[in-house]
Amino acid sequence: MLEDIYSKCPYPLDLFLDKLSSYILLNFDMDLTIRGFNKEFLETVKLVEAEIKDKSIADIFSSSSLQRVDFDSIKSYQRVKLCFKEDVIIDKLYHQYNSYFFNLEDGYYLIAEESTPEQGEIIEKISRLNNELANKTRELSRKNVKLEKAKQRIEELLKTDKLTALSNRRHFMDYFEKMIANAKRHSLPLSLVMSDLDHFKKINDNYGHSAGDRVLAAFGQLLLEETRQGDLASRIGGEEFTIILNGTPLKEAKNYAERIRKKVSNLEFEAIEAGITISMGITELKPKDDAESFLKRADKALYKAKNKGRNRVESL
Ligand code: GH3
Ligand code: MG
Ligand code: MG
Repeated sequence: MLEDIYSKCPYPLDLFLDKLSSYILLNFDMDLTIRGFNKEFLETVKLVEAEIKDKSIADIFSSSSLQRVDFDSIKSYQRVKLCFKEDVIIDKLYHQYNSYFFNLEDGYYLIAEESTPEQGEIIEKISRLNNELANKTRELSRKNVKLEKAKQRIEELLKTDKLTALSNRRHFMDYFEKMIANAKRHSLPLSLVMSDLDHFKKINDNYGHSAGDRVLAAFGQLLLEETRQGDLASRIGGEEFTIILNGTPLKEAKNYAERIRKKVSNLEFEAIEAGITISMGITELKPKDDAESFLKRADKALYKAKNKGRNRVESL
């Protein structure tokens, strides 16, 4: 293509072309439609070959810089500084080009070479990029905070029973093992309360499953309110609940369980005339206990309470 221009061009192109190591070459019509281009042009713009055909050079260069070209009076050649549109050029440090326009018999030609930026312009561009980077970094750290919060929320949900908002069986087991190890290591008392709502099946049978659910949710709320930080109330089955009481000997655990039992018997529910009662079994960790034996003893204490007539606290 360059040889073509050489042969057609009546002007001494070699005067300046020798200086051009890498140049963009474009051939376009009077109406500015692009008819031909070289490989350097293709490498400079984000467009693929098929997208360039029939595009106007007004789509490629900024309109303010194109206004500097006087197409009607290109007799010899015109030298103009052209700026690529920022969204068209593949990101380069600088997008200003020294450009030469020719009017030959088969249309206009444009030869353009990336102009060397002034130091000040480079600094300006770098500081702009720095600002962009700082903004992106800030945006990223904001997103990270959001992500971390979402992660915490998911972890929270994985530990929680939906109906009662208490911890679920899986989390109870994790925490239970940890608290046993902790109590043994520091020789601290640890008590476990096992609770089961009395004749709960009747509540469902007489008032419906959703009434049963309301009772469970209310009991969950009561336990949340009555549980100290570090203690853990969990729903480990349908209407079975545990409370781990850290640093609490059996005597104190009894008082705690009695208080809960009384509060449950005082709960009132709309459209449920029958009173709600709960049976509770309590036990304190013994040196030879592991999680299984400790849990089993609490369960036995609960059965004792059931067998003795329900709505009571028994210990073992
Ligand atoms: P007991 O005093 O011996 O504990 O009698 P109970 O009727 O409470 O015991 P049982 O184990 O026979 O019945 C427990 C009932 O709890 C049966 C089941 O339908 C109900 N249940 C379990 N999970 C849920 C729940 O999520 N929602 C409701 N509404 N009911 C539940
Ligand atoms: Mg039960
Ligand atoms: Mg029950």
